[in-house]
Order: sequence, then structure tokens, then C-alpha cells
Amino acid sequence: MTNTITDQESAVSGMIASNKWGTFFGISQKNFDTVWHNLTRETPNSVAYVTMEIGADLDVFHPVQKQLHDLQITKSTNSTFDHYAKLFLNGPQKIPNYGGGLGILAGDTLKSLAEMKIPAVAVSLLYRKGYFSQLVDATLGQISTATDWSPENTPSLYLLKDPENPSLPLEIKIPFFGDKDKKTEACARIWLKLELNHTLDYFTPEILLDYAIPSSPDWIQESAQHLYESRTDQHKIIQRRLLGAGVIPALKALGFKVSTLHLNEQHGVVAILTLIASKLQENLGSDYHILASDEDIINAADEVAANVVYTIHTPVKAGHDRFDKAMYSHFGHTFCQRILHLLAIDDEQSSVYNFTTLAMRVNRATNSVSRLHRGVTRKQFPQFAKKISAITNGVHHLTWISDAKAELYDSFKELHGWQHSPNVFANCKRLHKHAKFRAYFKQAWDTDTKALISYVNTMLVTHRNKTLETWIDPPNYLSYQDLQHKSLLSPDVYTIGFARRFSTYKRADLIFDDIDRLADIINKTNSPINFIFAGKAHPADEPGKKLIKQILFIQEELFEKTNGLGKLVFIPNYDMKIAKLMVAGVHAWLNSPKRPLEASGTSGMKAAMNGVPNISIMDGWWAEGYHDGLTGWKFGLETNVDNACLSEDKSTLLYAEDAASLYEILPDILAAFYDHEQEGYIDKCLRNIELNIPIFNTDRMAAEYVNRYDLKLPPTSQKHINYLQKAYDSDRDE
Ligand SMILES: *Cc1c(COP(=O)(O)O)cnc(C)c1O
Repeated sequence: MTNTITDQESAVSGMIASNKWGTFFGISQKNFDTVWHNLTRETPNSVAYVTMEIGADLDVFHPVQKQLHDLQITKSTNSTFDHYAKLFLNGPQKIPNYGGGLGILAGDTLKSLAEMKIPAVAVSLLYRKGYFSQLVDATLGQISTATDWSPENTPSLYLLKDPENPSLPLEIKIPFFGDKDKKTEACARIWLKLELNHTLDYFTPEILLDYAIPSSPDWIQESAQHLYESRTDQHKIIQRRLLGAGVIPALKALGFKVSTLHLNEQHGVVAILTLIASKLQENLGSDYHILASDEDIINAADEVAANVVYTIHTPVKAGHDRFDKAMYSHFGHTFCQRILHLLAIDDEQSSVYNFTTLAMRVNRATNSVSRLHRGVTRKQFPQFAKKISAITNGVHHLTWISDAKAELYDSFKELHGWQHSPNVFANCKRLHKHAKFRAYFKQAWDTDTKALISYVNTMLVTHRNKTLETWIDPPNYLSYQDLQHKSLLSPDVYTIGFARRFSTYKRADLIFDDIDRLADIINKTNSPINFIFAGKAHPADEPGKKLIKQILFIQEELFEKTNGLGKLVFIPNYDMKIAKLMVAGVHAWLNSPKRPLEASGTSGMKAAMNGVPNISIMDGWWAEGYHDGLTGWKFGLETNVDNACLSEDKSTLLYAEDAASLYEILPDILAAFYDHEQEGYIDKCLRNIELNIPIFNTDRMAAEYVNRYDLKLPPTSQKHINYLQKAYDSDRDE
């Protein structure tokens, strides 16, 4: 260590900032103040990003911890530093406030907004019991259990203090209304999470509302504990209101002023009701709820719309809230119901409010999440077709590129600056024929594969050893075999990964639709394959849980019919860490949804970031990322999008057709991988790096959103954003 004491002191003080709400770690006071100032300006120029879930676990991206490791300062005379350094180095790495793709997209987006210094603040909920944890038993399948975590001990989360009374936490009051407009007050504490950029000089604050506190009524506390609490529709209604109704009061409490509200899906759409009511109050005075005509309400909604951007994420029905009007009357003010009656109209059922229609109706831009999804959304909502555009999703490249690949990308000057600008990967074109790059790529990939396979093998052994201690039977057939020999996985074997939420339209079991035919391919070509699967089904999704059982059930048959060449393993309790291990370590990423129900999909992009090719239905992002076969393989029907293909009915899921199409290409894929030189296979990998990283990252996506946000940014930020926008135009007509 060559750091002098003074260097150390300035490094230490450069990592602490505070204001009247608390003390924060990882950023200097000066930079902290700049961000805060941007969000509290009298003439607002920022975005509030409203989302039900945020996935940003620290074990996949933790820039403050990295800085501490780099500085190698573990002790200091500054006790505040000591306290935080210990917490950030050793504290828990999980914040289980996400259920799947939507939350991880939110987390990745907020990280990119910070990376690009776009003034934004997120509003979400803090769930004291998180999303459920998944145990998997050989015969019972998924068992959902409580998730224990403690926000108090989690680095990067801060419980804000009450400036008037600093020994107490800040509490805000959010009005709720029961029958006959009886007023109740829901109370929330505010947790702030700082989503810091990798250079630690900017952040996106996340306001996480914690309603599970003694001053809130019991029924509110109960609905606030678990993400996607769905025991009853009442819980659902309340949870949506906790998010939506909390947005404006929370921003106000901290003095944040925003020019645009971005609804990440319609869950928080109740915020719009608050805005419409304030607009009417401005126009008509405090008796607005008596005075306002229907026309006044519609006009106010149109004014509010100018400040709202909405992203719709799925054509699947379960993703859109419809609430029974009679039931809703127990939770919303009668005036809210009047607004809903006018704007949340459901075309099929007059007895429900449709929150998607409300979100679609009141905004200045509606975004779908891929080009194909744009067409689907226009078909589903023809009355709004004109304003629906596409901004294709991305992933945060600094989160999803493995350490081994990052080291590879660091070692070639052609890729210099990739952290700051993923556009740089277009230069990979010059490295295709570079023998050293190809060799290093293979090495890095091998490192990632070994890490994954070793994780799986350890898991198989651990599950088996635990059989005597718990009542859970190991979920994997291989755990019951003689684990010394051919039952463990080998990293030299072609390994296909599949992991995502278990939902029927995603068809996790498609590749096993005709086991005999699959076994025949494996046996005839004598090509061993590992299939590694993971994913949770929502506890109330019975068909989804059945699919998990189906995957477990297939294991033995596959193994037997292929004489041990085909091995199928299921990793329980899928999370971001497992996702990162998988997308970097497998040899191909499988995606087999029913087209066009996967609006975008993001796990395949994470694989592409690591140079791993996709084998996928032409759905969602892959219709844009396939590049005529340069980056991977496609299979399945590609008929035009019509209303019939939107059906999620089991009988319309096209298993036989799409599986047959997959079996047709599988022998060629295996041949390419098992070819001694692997030239063709590696070409596809490098093409992913060159063609897909520059497009499917959240820096580019956020740059495209800047257009919708209409922000005035400083020239240096704007220049970088223009540069990123040049890489791609999601909304281009094809
Ligand atoms: C990326 C990710 C998802 C979303 O995957 P999709 O392909 O978009 O369905 C879900 N869960 C975890 C843990 C992830 O990392």
C-alpha cells in the first residue's frame, strides 16, 4: 500500500454525505448536493419513476464495496466511515423486493439513469417480508416460504430521520378512504436507497415506502408486507393504492419536484388520480369534488397527461389490474370513483375498473417494450394505437457482464471505455479474426462455465446430504444417484440454460414435449447435454407450479432414455445471483414462449452481454437481436400477430408445432458446438458482443427515454445521450 495518511483521509471523507434527513455513504458531499439540487429545483427538470418492484441485489453490482476493496482502507479514525465500511463489506447483499423481470428492469434502468447523470428519483414500496422464497421438493414441487431480511442491516438503505425531531424516523401520512368516504390515515416511513453509478459521483435515489409500521392501521400493515400479496383482491387493491397514493406525498415530503411521472407498468396509476384532483382543486377551488362536471374532470386529465409517460410490459391478462367496482368502493373516495368511472373503462365488463385503460388514457407517451410488442399493443388497444411507440428494453451491462468477461473486455484496447459506453462493443468487429481475442474469450467462458457447473454439483451433493436433516426431498434426480461418478455435471458438456418466472405462456417444458424424439437426437449424435433450469411460479399460479413439477418429473425419463447423456437439473430459489452465474456460464440460452406473448424478455440479453448465443422463438427482443442468424438460432411459427395468437389457453399454446421446429435445428447446433475447432460457434458468440451489446443495454434504452421525458440536460450529458441514441432507434418502422 502506498496511500499516504492524507490520501486516506480525503478518500474517507469523500465517501460520506449528509443532510437533514440522514447520513449517506459512498458519495462525496459535493456530488450528493448536486444530485439533490437537481431534484429539488423550483423549475423541475426530472423524472419520478413509479414501480411496484425494484431488483438491484448488491451481490451482482456493488460499486461502493468495490471502491472499498480498491482503496484497501478497512480502518479509519472516522467512526462514521468505520461503521459504514464494515456494513458495506460484510452486510447482506439481498434486497428481496422484486419478483422477476419487471423489477430487475427497474433496477437496471435506475442504475443507467445514474450512470448517465439523468435527474430521476424512483418511488416504490419496501416489503418487510419481500417476495417469497422457494423451496423445491421432489414430489411436492415448489413450496413457498417466508423471506427473512432486515432493511436495518442492509447496506445502501437508509431510514430517513424526521428533521424536526432527529431521534425519530420521518413519517408521512397518506389519506385513505373507506365506506362513505370515512377517512383513515395510512402512515409510512421512508427508506432511501442510493443507486450509485460505478464512478460514485451520481445516484438515483429510490424512495421506498414502508407502511408496515405501528402507526398504520393493521389492515394496511398486512397488505404491505409481501410483494404481490394476492390472497384476496382486497389486498391487491390496497397494495396498488399504497404505491400510487404515496407517490405525490412522498415526493413532497422530501421537496422533490419532478416534471414527468414515468409509470413502469400500471400498478402505481392511482398517482394520476391524485394529480387530477389537485388540478381540479387549482381550477375550481377546494369544493372541486362538488363542483366538477364530467367535462372538467376530462379536461383536468388531459392537462395531467402532459406530465405522464407510461410503459406497458405485457399483453398477458394477468399483468393488468381489473378491480370490481363494488369492492373498490370500500377503499377509494367517491370522487376517485367518479374519475375511474370516466377513465378506467373496461371494454368487456362494465362492473370493473380497468387500470390499464386509465394509464393508457392519461399520458403523453405510451411505450411498448419491443418493436413486435408495439404491434401487439396497438392491436390490443386500437383506440390508443396512434400514441403507442416502442422503446426496446435493455439490461445494465455493468451488472450482467461476468468478472471473467469484464477482464477480457478490459484487456483489448479496441474495447476501451466499454464501461462508460456500451456502444464501444461495435468495435468487436475488428477482433473477430484476432486469434488472441478468440482464445481469451474461450478461456473466460470456460471460467464462467466451471463456476456454474461447480455451483450445481455442490448443490446436488448438499441437497443429498441434507435429506436426513429436513423433510424436503432433494428436487433433483441426480442427487439420488451415485454422486462419485457419471451423475455429476461436466463443464465440457453442451449446457443449455433456461430460467425465468414459471408462467404457462413461457412454456418451460417445450423442449421436452417429445422426450423420445429429443432422446433420439442426443443418442444418434452421441452428444451429451446438460439442461439447467430455474425459476419461481407466483404462489397463486397453480398452472405455473405444475410446470415446475413437470420439469422435475422429466429428469429421470430423460436420463434413462439417453443412458445418462441428457441431464436436467433444477436450481431452487432463482435470484439475480443465480441468473448471473447462469447467463454467463451456459453455452446457449433457451427461450421458448408462445409468440407474441413475451413482450420483450431480458434474460436473453444478459446472455448476449456475455457472448452467449440464444436459441429462441422469434418473440420480444429476439426479433431484433437475431440478425439473420448471426447471433444464434430461431425456431417456431412466425405468423402475423392477430387476436387469435394472443390466447393463453392451453390448447392454443402450439406445443407440438414449435417443439418440432426446435428438434429440427438441434442437431446442427450440437454439431457446431462439438465441432473440434468450434469456429462457427465462437463466431456467433462474438457477433453477440458486436451486434447486441450496443443495442440491448439500459444506457441506450434510457437515452431513448430522454426523448419522451423532454429533459433539458447539460451539454456533456446530452452529447453522450445523442451518441447512444445513434446506436439504435427502437421505434423505427420495419
Ligand atoms: C432477468 C431476470 C428475470 C427476467 O427474465 P425474462 O427472460 O425477462 O423472463 C427474472 N428473474 C431474474 C432473477 C432475472 O435475473
